[in-house]
Amino acid sequence: MEGALIARDRVGVQDFVLLDSHTSEAAFLNNLRKRYQENLIYTYIGTLLVSVNPYKELDIYTVTQMQLYRGVNFFELPPHLYAIADNAYRVMCSEYNNHFILISGESGAGKTEASKKILQYYAVTCPTTEQLQVVRDRLLLSNPVLEAFGNAKTLRNDNSSRFGKYMDIQFDFKGAPVGGHILSYLIEKSRVVHQNHGERNFHIFYQLLEGGEKDLLCWLGLERNPQKYAYLIQVSENLAISLFYVWNSCAIHNTPPFGGNCYPSAMFQGRCAKVFSINDKNDWKIVRKAFSIIDFTEKDLEHLFGIVASVLHLGNIQFEEDSNGHAIIRNGTQIKWISKVLSPLNVDLAFYARDAVAKAIYGRTFTWLVNKINGSLANKDSTRKTVIGLLDIYGFEVLDTNSFEQFCINYCNEKLQQLLIEMTLKAEQEEYEMEGIEWEPIPYFNNKIICDLVEQKHKGIISILDEECLRPGEATDLSFLEKLEEKVGDHAHFVTRKLADQKTRKSIDWVDFRLLHYAGEVTYCAVGECDRGAALEVLCNSKNGIIRDCFLLSELDSRRRPETVATQFKNSLMSLIEILMSKEPSYIRCIKPNENKEPGMFDDCLIRHQVKYLGLMEHLRVRRAGFAYRRKYEHFLQRYKSLCPATWPHWHGPAAEGVERLIKHIGYKPEEYKLGRTKIFIRFPKTLFATEDAFEIRK
Ligand code: ADP
Ligand code: MG
Repeated sequence: MEGALIARDRVGVQDFVLLDSHTSEAAFLNNLRKRYQENLIYTYIGTLLVSVNPYKELDIYTVTQMQLYRGVNFFELPPHLYAIADNAYRVMCSEYNNHFILISGESGAGKTEASKKILQYYAVTCPTTEQLQVVRDRLLLSNPVLEAFGNAKTLRNDNSSRFGKYMDIQFDFKGAPVGGHILSYLIEKSRVVHQNHGERNFHIFYQLLEGGEKDLLCWLGLERNPQKYAYLIQVSENLAISLFYVWNSCAIHNTPPFGGNCYPSAMFQGRCAKVFSINDKNDWKIVRKAFSIIDFTEKDLEHLFGIVASVLHLGNIQFEEDSNGHAIIRNGTQIKWISKVLSPLNVDLAFYARDAVAKAIYGRTFTWLVNKINGSLANKDSTRKTVIGLLDIYGFEVLDTNSFEQFCINYCNEKLQQLLIEMTLKAEQEEYEMEGIEWEPIPYFNNKIICDLVEQKHKGIISILDEECLRPGEATDLSFLEKLEEKVGDHAHFVTRKLADQKTRKSIDWVDFRLLHYAGEVTYCAVGECDRGAALEVLCNSKNGIIRDCFLLSELDSRRRPETVATQFKNSLMSLIEILMSKEPSYIRCIKPNENKEPGMFDDCLIRHQVKYLGLMEHLRVRRAGFAYRRKYEHFLQRYKSLCPATWPHWHGPAAEGVERLIKHIGYKPEEYKLGRTKIFIRFPKTLFATEDAFEIRK
């Protein structure tokens, strides 16, 4: 890939590599700020794209713009998503290899928008046939469906993706999109039963209530008013069960966790059924239409909406104690099985089990949905295809209370950071090697040590967690913590309770532990995460086809030892990394400019932090360690040939020789450049600027 060639202008440099000053963070931020204030939200670091969320509609995503970037060399136009998308596409077509575009950044930074814009770019600019229109539409329309079920309003983002997504777009030999495949990661099931103040449940609940046809709601037994549903307005009662190992355990245990604590009495949550930026009624229409194009049958939808409704009904079930201390359903709901299955429990555990069932149903239905969409995107013809994968995955996350979900999310970010470090360093080194250029590797922080801490067999946190989970009834959160201290207590990135106590001089809850991630320190505490309760058997026999598909009878076989949630996640990440490693990478790093979702506001402190943990300075250093700029001889000559009489207007010999003549003529000093096999490498930006200035004058 080429480096971007762009001159300085009033709005900073379009490639950080060309920053004149030392690669200081201040200069980096200055450049980013200057550009942001001019609505120039994209800047390169070599071939990596940095994007700052504008929080307003910009006129840069039109079809005209798309066509502008189509087939044009990376460096000839201002930085853009489309340039990244187009570059990957062109290399794929010419070299017939597979690519991925990794989009990262924290919640609200613009990842999902970026991935949708890239998909649109391909939909508009790639060749297609009438036959393939359907595929194109399905690829595009899979988004609203997945967003309805997988996105929610959070404090950070009104349309926050609560799952990780990797989507392959498959192309035939002509470069036409012919199919796709989606992998989803760890949907945030806890949201189904509980949301923080100012947040919402998944969009679909509100869409159904707002937009659902009268008959449909009637059939589902639903009222239009979201305030009627506990899962949409009330805090769930399972909050107080906070045993760390419960996080992971319940893929194994068929019984609810021990230690039923008292539940906090009804606190209000969410409380924001209506969101200014969201039109649920309209979104419902879009989703309905999408469903029909993605080929869902009426029966599928009946079942699907039936599940959405049943989750809401489930949330409204209240229990009270009978004379034996067993739970009985208070509000006389007509769901016999709930009472039958949950009544041996005490009231606390009955609530817990109810929520566990709701989460399990929703989580598995989401997986079913993804599979169903994959069925409709599948390309059955067996000719060889190439793919471009889009990875839109949750960014590093530090909340006030960090639970299992944050643990997984942050572990995932560690893995991806490692991938980026390895692939960029590797790519850089390989390029120098290929071109026969000497270079000295620069030191960088390798976060492999943290990945190992989490994932190593027998010694890592996940293994320890698993072991504890295999001892139902014996393991306690205390024994888990003791195991952790014993096995990883000495690790440089693990802070034990004792250390934390000494450092902060206050005691922390003994179910907490702290990890020093590459992106910062996070204290994790536990929140119950029960994947299945005693109701499993009933669910396996459900009349609802989706539920029956999602809860297989074979799971009841206690001799089978299913994987724990953490191990499942670890394995799915491992295979994701494998998928990515076999492809050519492009990177988009998204930055969130302020916490207020406000256009034009550049919060230095917030952005500096992101620049740091996204590893942008490191990336820049690696990129600059050798040569700030490199360009194929042909391209360099084409642009600057007018600067030398020998190469103007045409040079007939080999391009490399032409470049040699050219730079001799304009007076490059030997320490300023190196000539590789196919490219010229220029060490300092100022050399290039001088050439560019001369070129401008000449023009
Ligand atoms: P993330 O997926 O990183 O959490 P999103 O992509 O959902 O963030 O973006 C959050 C919000 O920011 C969007 O809903 C949109 O309002 C705004 N936004 C993001 N990217 C852009 C963009 N390129 N142009 C205009 N608005 C954007
Ligand atoms: Mg998102």
